Amino acid sequence: MKAQTIKDAEKLARMVEISGVLNSTTNLERLLTYIIKVAAELTDAEAASFLLLDSKSRQLYFKASSNELSPKMAETPVPLDSSIAGAILLSNQPMITEDVSQNPRWNPNIDHAIQFRTSSILGVPLHDAGKQAIGVLESLNKQNGRFSEEDVETLAILADLAGVAVEKARLIEELQRANAELSELDQLKSDFIAVASHELRTPLSVILGYVSFLREQADPQTIDQLDNVLQAAVHLRNLIQDMLNFRYVDTGTTNLNPSQVDFVELVRNMTITRDDAAIAKQQVVNVQLPQEQLPVWIDQTVMEVVVSNLLNNAIKFTPKGGQIDIAVDRRGEEAWLMVADNGIGIPPDKLDRIFKRFYQVESALRREYEGMGLGLAIAKELVELHEGRIWAESEVAKGSVFYVALPLIQDLWFSM
Ligand code: ADP
Repeated sequence: MKAQTIKDAEKLARMVEISGVLNSTTNLERLLTYIIKVAAELTDAEAASFLLLDSKSRQLYFKASSNELSPKMAETPVPLDSSIAGAILLSNQPMITEDVSQNPRWNPNIDHAIQFRTSSILGVPLHDAGKQAIGVLESLNKQNGRFSEEDVETLAILADLAGVAVEKARLIEELQRANAELSELDQLKSDFIAVASHELRTPLSVILGYVSFLREQADPQTIDQLDNVLQAAVHLRNLIQDMLNFRYVDTGTTNLNPSQVDFVELVRNMTITRDDAAIAKQQVVNVQLPQEQLPVWIDQTVMEVVVSNLLNNAIKFTPKGGQIDIAVDRRGEEAWLMVADNGIGIPPDKLDRIFKRFYQVESALRREYEGMGLGLAIAKELVELHEGRIWAESEVAKGSVFYVALPLIQDLWFSM
């Protein structure tokens, strides 16, 4: 093989290697440092610089340099019409300047500032994916002899690869910045919802407390009116609770505070049979619990939210005087909760969709039932955070059964 062919093959292999690194580096700073290192290496130059066009001011700025990029150098604009880099960008052509002191466009200020002496420059334009010139890649001071046509070709290929890689890295950084901003906004929204709903809850519990008390004392004629007030207050409480519960969903498992809990005890302590809303609708609520304990590893408060959401729906979607049956049972390695009602039921094709955020079977315009369509979505996300499952079975006009399955604690060590 001829010496030139071997050299070409080696160069091609090096280019392939470089292209791989460029494609896999998404950190802009590291990418730029790599580009100028290989630019100097491939063209046998003392140093290299990388300048990008600022789209607003239409001036070039140094983004990387073999000489350490001082803040002063990074902040000094390089005007398009009075610089060598500017001429390269405007002409959109590679350019060799053998002796910069002979070029009227040469501005020695940067050299003075960083105590470097530029003598020769080979510069090529950088392009974005749309072939627009977005910057300039320069090799400075050829080590032996003069920059050759081969150097021009090599640097131009490198610039083409670099331009696309830089654009990609810039987009990724922009996305990351936008993402961080969005997360911050989302956090603000979540904080606002948490604070607002918390503040609303306190006066509401006073109202609920007094109405329940008055209802107990009331004569039969006023009971109906007080039931209306009670129902409205309970509705408000449920809406506020949904808003509050989002804090668990949005922060994922990080906000969970799990411990070993007897699931049977949890449901027993919720005093479901005395639920205000069910009383107001004169519904019968039965609870069937097993004798044995069913230990599960859960955040108790969070799981109470799940049970309440299912119970509230059963009450809401079951007519006055209806029946609701809650049962807890061991099924294999799981603790099961079943919430059954003899209410309006759910069409079979909607049984999966009801667990999506904001989904409601009734159209918003013809809505008879109150709610935001969040209760089941929250319940599903919370159950899944506990490695559990939730689903429903139903028949229209007959009623629905909602199931929650949670893994039982098996390990003896766990339960000690
Ligand atoms: P919301 O109750 O606020 O509308 P959910 O996410 O709790 O929101 O429920 C979503 C939808 O699922 C409800 O709007 C209703 O159409 C249906 N649904 C939920 N539970 C029942 C139930 N027990 N009986 C009949 N339909 C139900």
